[in-house]
Amino acid sequence: MPHTLGICTYAMTLHLADGDRVCIVGGGPAGCFAALHLLRLAGQRDLKLEVLIFEPRDFSLRGPGGCNRCAGILSSRLIRGLAGLGLTIPDEVVQSELKTYAIHLDEEVLTIHQSDPDRQILSVYRGGGPRSGDKPPSFGFDNWLIESACLQGAIHVPERVRTITNEERPVVHTRENRYEADLMVFACGVNSSSPLSSDFSYEPPETVIMAQDEFLLPDDVPIDQVSAYFDKTSDMLFAAMIPKGQYANVSLLGEEIRLDSIREFVAKQNLPKAYFSEERRLCGCTPKSAIGAAKGYYGSRWVAIGDAAVTRLYKDGIGSAFYTAEAAMQTVITHGISERAFKQNYAPYCNRIRNDNRYGQLLIKLWQRMLHSPHLLRAWLNAVNMERPGNPAQPVHARILWGMLTGDDSYRTLFWHSCSPNALGNLLRGLKRSF
Ligand SMILES: Cc1cc2nc3c(=O)[nH]c(=O)nc-3n(C[C@H](O)[C@H](O)[C@H](O)COP(=O)(O)OP(=O)(O)OC[C@H]3O[C@@H](n4cnc5c(N)ncnc54)[C@H](O)[C@@H]3O)c2cc1C
Repeated sequence: MPHTLGICTYAMTLHLADGDRVCIVGGGPAGCFAALHLLRLAGQRDLKLEVLIFEPRDFSLRGPGGCNRCAGILSSRLIRGLAGLGLTIPDEVVQSELKTYAIHLDEEVLTIHQSDPDRQILSVYRGGGPRSGDKPPSFGFDNWLIESACLQGAIHVPERVRTITNEERPVVHTRENRYEADLMVFACGVNSSSPLSSDFSYEPPETVIMAQDEFLLPDDVPIDQVSAYFDKTSDMLFAAMIPKGQYANVSLLGEEIRLDSIREFVAKQNLPKAYFSEERRLCGCTPKSAIGAAKGYYGSRWVAIGDAAVTRLYKDGIGSAFYTAEAAMQTVITHGISERAFKQNYAPYCNRIRNDNRYGQLLIKLWQRMLHSPHLLRAWLNAVNMERPGNPAQPVHARILWGMLTGDDSYRTLFWHSCSPNALGNLLRGLKRSF
């Protein structure tokens, strides 16, 4: 009876055994983190696995070909997570340590500083650096990660996966070969079409387009300062200029973003044209960013992680890749690789990220409402100024903004901070001052 058979299969406990093969499809951060977590956890149990990472991209190349296109800010929670795995990011990978955000709001520029020196934030290149840079290619973060995973015992298969079929086990097909997997980890992100065959019933997350460019860092922009721009008169939600060594990444988020949007943004913000001239422009791309959660992102003997499953809204995608990979691999080792194991132990973690993003959406709406209300905006600016050192007001608004920009705190924490008596009291005092 098919129904009874279905229940039996579902209830069956499946575990990895010595000599089993794990195919990780995609060797960006999520795939490499999965390999690192899995090999560590398996090693603690003396379980010998063959871990293959399928990744066709050569991360040592300059330009979009060698790069998993992103602004490359690493959050403090990611850096802490890496330390927990015994990994320290080498100096040659780090492009800048970021300590200040300059917030550009209409005519005002508000500077907020890192208040906790233990929460380090870094910028890196994902690949070899901008296409037309005049320096030798950089040692990118993704390159370092895949090397670290291989040092721990993973095997890099430098091939694109064409299809993954769901037979008795998942089967990974490249142009030349076919690999039967005891477990398949899907870590392809959202910037290429999914090789999963339709019998996986996987639906990728919703995405938006962003624009990015690289320029030579203007001489008068400090190397540790991110400039963030909010423009209430356009569809642009947010723009940021992030120092990376002698270069600067400009990333733009909003509706109907095209590569040209960066040129329009530079003109609109009245940024010095000499800094952003065609000669100083070194790269450029329009990648997709995940803003929702995937559906059907796990099953018997397979699980999706990183962007391909769920990520934090507009923030700390690499951190999410780390922690979804950790939650999935802990499930694999502790509870097994059945659909039920993932449903009971991995899905709740992904649901927490999805629910936290709802608070993020709410905070972004509140922020936009404030940008469009001159009185509220003035009250908020007054409140932040009253919170500066030497003033009696408890610093709360600057911390909330810092958390929003860096991804250092959950959106839920920030939302409740913004409803706290301190936050509301400071805003009220700011409002009084504005009249
Ligand atoms: C403009 C922009 C700026 C961003 N800025 C930041 C930031 O500053 N900080 C931050 O933390 N996050 C940032 N993000 C988000 C971040 O880029 C992602 O969350 C992160 O890269 C997700 O990692 P991943 O491994 O899941 O996916 P990816 O990084 O996309 O990696 C997927 C990998 O899978 C490989 N792959 C794809 N298809 C196949 C296939 N068929 N066979 C084999 N391999 C395949 C790809 O080559 C790639 O290496 C930004 C995103 C965008 C779009």
